[in-house]
Amino acid sequence: MSHTSREIRLAARPVGEPGPEHFDLVAVEVPELGEGQVLVRNTWMSVDPYMRGRMDDVPSYIPPFELGVALEGSAVGEVIASTSDAVPVGATVSHFLGWREYAVVDAAHVTVVDPALAAPQAYLGVLGTPGLTAYAALTDVAPVRPGDVVFVSAAAGAVGSVAGQLARKLGAARVIGSAGGPVKTRKVVEDFGFDAAVDYREGALPAQLAAAAPDGVDVYLDHVGGDHLEAAIGAAREGGRIALIGAISQYNAVGPVPGPGNLFDAVRKQLTLRGMLVNSYFGLFPEYTARAAAWLADGSLRTEETVLDGIDRAPEAFLGVLRGANTGKMLVRLDSGR
Ligand code: NAP
Repeated sequence: MSHTSREIRLAARPVGEPGPEHFDLVAVEVPELGEGQVLVRNTWMSVDPYMRGRMDDVPSYIPPFELGVALEGSAVGEVIASTSDAVPVGATVSHFLGWREYAVVDAAHVTVVDPALAAPQAYLGVLGTPGLTAYAALTDVAPVRPGDVVFVSAAAGAVGSVAGQLARKLGAARVIGSAGGPVKTRKVVEDFGFDAAVDYREGALPAQLAAAAPDGVDVYLDHVGGDHLEAAIGAAREGGRIALIGAISQYNAVGPVPGPGNLFDAVRKQLTLRGMLVNSYFGLFPEYTARAAAWLADGSLRTEETVLDGIDRAPEAFLGVLRGANTGKMLVRLDSGR
């Protein structure tokens, strides 16, 4: 049976902030399966801040998106045809050919997931790379020790909201988050269980951080860069650890951005600043999934999703995640109304 699939292509490379004009929605005929392939009807796809970097034609840890070609990213879906013994029709799988309604994927490049453990879209969020990022950061990159004070930026987002809760489970005595606006900061405390939240849009971060963490910060998870990183270095205690995970405040920058003005404090306080890419931690997935699934089942790990419906809204979802339109994981649902 032939299928028509709509997909989102990169129409033009943005300079600065991207807009809808940088994307095209195109309908294509889905090709026949080759040997060892599966046809996946995508049901959910992820939009992630790092994708902004792939819109630029610059060398990075992952190749740029190509002009006129469908974008890529994490997705989950149902296998509706298969020429592989390893992945049967009916399986729920995660893979990397999102931004389209139907994907032909080599069976070796899909992961069969267990929909009984959690809803399929959880494998794009708390049980996917965002959750793993938080876990790897707090257990390896900037490990939390019992009694630590932990600060997490973008705390209402996919990684941040999970990170604050994991930090507590891993022994933190006090967990502080930052987010944009009063609705999000309230949610960070009331729903995600942080002890305090600062609104970075309301006044200077260093003063707000000093009030929330009067004795300083042992661990900082940096998702924002810029003013947040500088404030965290300023608030860090002797021997503090900082995980450099993302720098979303700089993703639309045109040209080089200044570093923190207080980097010598890292020398004086003997801080560790360490970058991470979650891809290096995929080996931790079994350990993390087992622990996180148990916490989800007992209700002690809370998650949230912001959902837009339809492939045509994927660009809007992506532009939204860059601007803070999401709480928890930003997702696009692809199977509604089909
Ligand atoms: P997310 O936090 O769910 O969404 C991004 C959030 O960033 C927005 O909701 C917005 O929240 C905040 N933001 C946007 N512009 C900002 C600014 N100028 N200053 C402060 N906050 C701003 O996204 P995520 O998927 O969890 O990713 C969070 C960060 O981790 C990103 O930097 C991402 O690139 C990074 N990351 C890195 C890895 C890795 O392997 N290194 C893996 C996953 C994610 P507000 O409304 O609160 O501003």
